[in-house]
Amino acid sequence: MILGILGGGQLGWMLGTAARRLGIECVFLDPAEHCTSDLVGDRIRAAYDDEDALSELARRCNVVTYEFENVPAEAAARLAKEVDVRPGWKSLETSQDRLVEKSFLTEHGVPVPAFAAVDDLASLEAAVVKVGLPAILKTRRGGYDGKGQTVLRHPKDLESAFAAIGRRPAILESMVDFDLEASVLVVRGSDGATETWGPIRNQHTGGILRRSDCPAPDVSSEATSAMLAHTERLARALDHCGVLTVEFFVRGDDVLANEIAPRVHNSGHLTIEFSQTDQFENHVRAVTGLPLGSTSSRHPHAMMLNAIGAAPVDADLTADHIAMVDDFGIPSEEVTAGVAVYHDYRKSPRPGRKVGHLTAVSRESPGAWADRLTALIPGSSTTDPNSAG
Ligand code: AMP
Repeated sequence: MILGILGGGQLGWMLGTAARRLGIECVFLDPAEHCTSDLVGDRIRAAYDDEDALSELARRCNVVTYEFENVPAEAAARLAKEVDVRPGWKSLETSQDRLVEKSFLTEHGVPVPAFAAVDDLASLEAAVVKVGLPAILKTRRGGYDGKGQTVLRHPKDLESAFAAIGRRPAILESMVDFDLEASVLVVRGSDGATETWGPIRNQHTGGILRRSDCPAPDVSSEATSAMLAHTERLARALDHCGVLTVEFFVRGDDVLANEIAPRVHNSGHLTIEFSQTDQFENHVRAVTGLPLGSTSSRHPHAMMLNAIGAAPVDADLTADHIAMVDDFGIPSEEVTAGVAVYHDYRKSPRPGRKVGHLTAVSRESPGAWADRLTALIPGSSTTDPNSAG
């Protein structure tokens, strides 16, 4: 079995690490000079729309998956003619366009913030009447980590807000006054069996995920059941194969879906240490037709911190007895309760870039030690936007 993966970033690296454990070889496609995934597999270095490269990938692999949802439509269609691409086209198409995505969620009974399509200034004015202010204007395609979006507070700002997102097709969404954000991950196997992780509480600053906690503190059982049920229903409706992540806004017992990702997700990184089977292994299992592993927890608590904009100082990690993941990941038996592990993506730092993450598993819910770890990991603070990296 040889698995092709579009994208050689940290998600590709962690997928490749999991695949190796299962004895599955990976071939990546990515145009970058250096890729984190180079540690765990061969790579075809070419653009995602390079026809020869796509044909080579199809020839060399039994099945192809991806680590990001903005795979060019033509590339996915071309590949699908030559090799199985999982998750399939419907999952990609739905998650690539925020208008299609929000409409799909609504059709399948998943509540979302009020939204309206925006194509020009006139439709933006109409959208403000429908949705109200404050609101968030988001490009329909291509945005991530808060990019391609701007907050709209006053009617006089319509023109400048539309200019700020490049006058591109967009949606206007009402600004939700949520208690917290959470995600649920589901993996659906080729036989339709499912396993879930979460809900996981996610804390963002400046649109970028800083910290995740599982179990999610302060989430009612009603909100938990609703998120799990919505996520599983969406995976079935998409005929999804692999991991699907749904991000929610939670307010009391109510939940609103924010977005879906047809792939492994940053908020699921803590499953490596926390769960019997992590998101990466179960994604590989699903897309290669293997039975899924159990997602039950191995520890009472897990917390993940993203290193953004700069790497932590090695000496600080050593002083705090924080293990570093080696090239192939650490064997899961070695992670015992009370341990923190840093995953270094070997990426050169630049502002806003995720360069690694730390996961701490523990018997008690995170206490003062969590603040100490946050101070070690640049950009992970949820309260200090200036350390935002
Ligand atoms: P997104 O790229 O849509 O996931 O947005 C990134 C982050 O911006 C989210 O995780 C929220 O913290 C915030 N955000 C996005 N949409 C809304 C909304 N409608 N109301 C309030 N906050 C939002």
